[in-house]
Amino acid sequence: MEKKRIFLSSPTMHGEEQKFIKEAFDTNWVAPLGPNVDAFEKEMAEYTGCGYAAALSAGTAAIHLAVKLAGVKEGDRVFCSSLTFSASCNPICYEKAIPVFIDSEEDTWNMDPKALEKAFEKYPDTKAVICVHLYGTPAKIDEIQEICHRHGAVLIEDAAESLASTFKGQMTGTFGDFGIYSFNGNKIITTSGGGMLVSKDEEVVAKARFLSTQARDAARWYQHSQIGYNYRMSNIIAGVGRGQLLHLEEHKAKKKAIYQQYKEAFADIEEISMNPMNPDGDANNWLSGMVLAKGCKVTPYQIMDALAEENIESRPVWKPMHLQPVFADCDFITLKEEGSVGEDIFNRGLCLPSDIKNTPEDMELIITTIRRLFGK
Ligand SMILES: *Cc1c(COP(=O)(O)O)cnc(C)c1O
Repeated sequence: MEKKRIFLSSPTMHGEEQKFIKEAFDTNWVAPLGPNVDAFEKEMAEYTGCGYAAALSAGTAAIHLAVKLAGVKEGDRVFCSSLTFSASCNPICYEKAIPVFIDSEEDTWNMDPKALEKAFEKYPDTKAVICVHLYGTPAKIDEIQEICHRHGAVLIEDAAESLASTFKGQMTGTFGDFGIYSFNGNKIITTSGGGMLVSKDEEVVAKARFLSTQARDAARWYQHSQIGYNYRMSNIIAGVGRGQLLHLEEHKAKKKAIYQQYKEAFADIEEISMNPMNPDGDANNWLSGMVLAKGCKVTPYQIMDALAEENIESRPVWKPMHLQPVFADCDFITLKEEGSVGEDIFNRGLCLPSDIKNTPEDMELIITTIRRLFGK
């Protein structure tokens, strides 16, 4: 018999999503606009306290529009977390700007404020900073915000993985001049695919909606004074989002419980540490990660292979952007004399199955499979 597949993080649907979709069908709002889109924006703005929100086709689209609205032009430099998914920095290149990657700190795995400060010493004219809250752990976003202000740079928070995570009681994604969220299939809530751009500035959010719908001027005919995009979220997809949002806090609680269970289960294995939490924050624990001690005889790939044998999905930590062939020419700022914090985490870390539908038996199987490799 084939073993049951245990996923890293798959969609968890509840039924209310279909109610909102049905409404869209019944009223024939099958379009990239409509009541679900407007309501989803309002509900997200209320939930996060971000001010205003624009519903878009993807988190990547939201980052792209944020980069544009930040005024980034061809040849400008933009600082970006190195340890992240490529979607964080690709939009810098869409605008022909130049990414400069910033190393992580060990205590949150996120952008090191001291490395960011060092980057501004080298490139004082940098226009914008993209800071990621990796795997749902909040960065030291107050320090990063202060540094950006001091250097007159726009802060874009990539909160694609950290929706519902807070820092000092405030939602991640709401500290920056812009915040972005993703509703991709494996995120903490999903619309199958989608994203949201948020800001306290009502005007820039209106501008984002304008750019996302082909930049049509207010004329009776089709008139365009700017290049636009087809980035708007559909009214069907927004219905899925509205249904999911009702369960976000519940998803977060379940993700936190998974992290806690792993932490306790591996507490007696010295070579294993879980991905770090920020003591000033409350993480959504989107993905539970672990990092193996230096010199540990078990490798992350042995763990991933052993899990795969049981039909259990796991994945490596993101390979840092400064090590990617496509960004080989980009500068990288680190405090390390040799190597980098990001590379070290990449070499020693992995992401564990964090699907909230995992049963107690699934969790047991994951845990015993890993413990066995350590002779437990
Ligand atoms: C998922 C993700 C994105 C991109 O979101 P999409 O909705 O898939 O375009 C951006 N940044 C990070 C860190 C992500 O994990």
